Parts: sequence; C-alpha cells; structure tokens
Amino acid sequence: MTTAILVHLGLGSNLGNRQAFLNQACSKLSAATLQNFRSSEIYESEPLLKMKQPNYFNQVVCGWTELTPLELLKKCQQIETQLGRVRKEHWGSRKIDLDILSYGKDIVDTERIKIPHPEMEKRSFVLLPLLELSPDWVHPKSGKSIQILWENWLKTNNEELPLVLNP
Ligand code: ATP
Ligand code: CA
Ligand code: CA
Repeated sequence: MTTAILVHLGLGSNLGNRQAFLNQACSKLSAATLQNFRSSEIYESEPLLKMKQPNYFNQVVCGWTELTPLELLKKCQQIETQLGRVRKEHWGSRKIDLDILSYGKDIVDTERIKIPHPEMEKRSFVLLPLLELSPDWVHPKSGKSIQILWENWLKTNNEELPLVLNP
C-alpha cells in the first residue's frame, strides 16, 4: 500500500490574467493530484532582485499525494504547459510557475529536483503564505518551523512585505 504524503507547492504568475492562472492551477491540482487540498490567500510581490518585470501573484497550496517527487514534478510541469507556460530564460516572466516546496519530511537532492526548495527560507512570498497554511511544518534540514523561519526572515530583511490581494 502506498501512503499519502503531505506536500506544499508554491505557485506564481506574472503574465496575463495572473489570478486566473493561479485559480486554474488550483483547480487542476485539487481535481486530480492533491487530496484534502488547501490554499493560502493570493499575495502580490515584486520580482526577485527588482527585475524589470510585472509584479507576481503568489500562493501556496498543500495536500496529500501518493505520487513520488519526480511524478509530482512532472505533473506540475504538465500543468504549467497546459496553462501556456513557455520556458525561456531562468527567472523570466511566466504565466504560471509551480515549485515543490516540501514533500513530507523528505530531503531530495538530485540534478532535477531539490526538496525542500532551496530558496524557500529567503522568500517572503513563500514563507508568508506557508505561515497561513502550516505554521508548524518543520524544515527537515534546519529543524526550524515555518513560524521560526518567518521570525528569522523578519529580523534579517527590511524589504516590503507581499500584500494580500483583495483582503
Ligand atoms: P526557482 O526554482 O529559483 O524558483 P524557477 O522556478 O524560475 O526558479 P524553473 O525554470 O521553473 O525555475 O525550473 C527550473 C528547474 O528546476 C526545473 O526544470 C526542475 O527540474 C528544477 N527543480 C529543482 N527542484 C525543484 C522543485 N523543488 N520544484 C520545481 N522544480 C524544481
Ligand atoms: Ca519558482
Ligand atoms: Ca519553477
């Protein structure tokens, strides 16, 4: 018997109807991929390194899956393609981006997949929605909860915080 694993995914969009792309990704994930699906609010944030791109809409979702990490990555990439993502330069503008943030307590470090997502502790647009969904989730490398990671982020950054869309 395969057991289901709790996973968190980070969603982002900064091209076209950003809210619609996030909603469509959520519909697809909740329909077939993630059980007991939950989603955070949508946040608006500035592009990384203040790149000259439209602002991002970001969201974190979670749910339970029996897929392996590689199967889940392929599913995420399939949804990105279905929603019209064209792969150009790294960190370029995109209609939809789906990153695997966590896969249970597993650590995966291969060329194709790194879990937990290596940048998550640095990104307010990931930590803030994660704080909403799973404040007690513990990062398997540092042993720190999202609550603690967020407190650490606040102590070490003075960037503007992502804003909740339509609060
Ligand atoms: P970042 O990962 O810094 O947010 P990005 O999302 O813009 O950057 P992409 O161009 O979407 O990066 O993905 C590049 C590659 O990252 C993918 O082809 C995939 O193999 C790899 N990858 C490694 N770890 C993960 C992960 N946890 N989730 C999604 N993709 C991952
Ligand atoms: Ca990303
Ligand atoms: Ca990605």
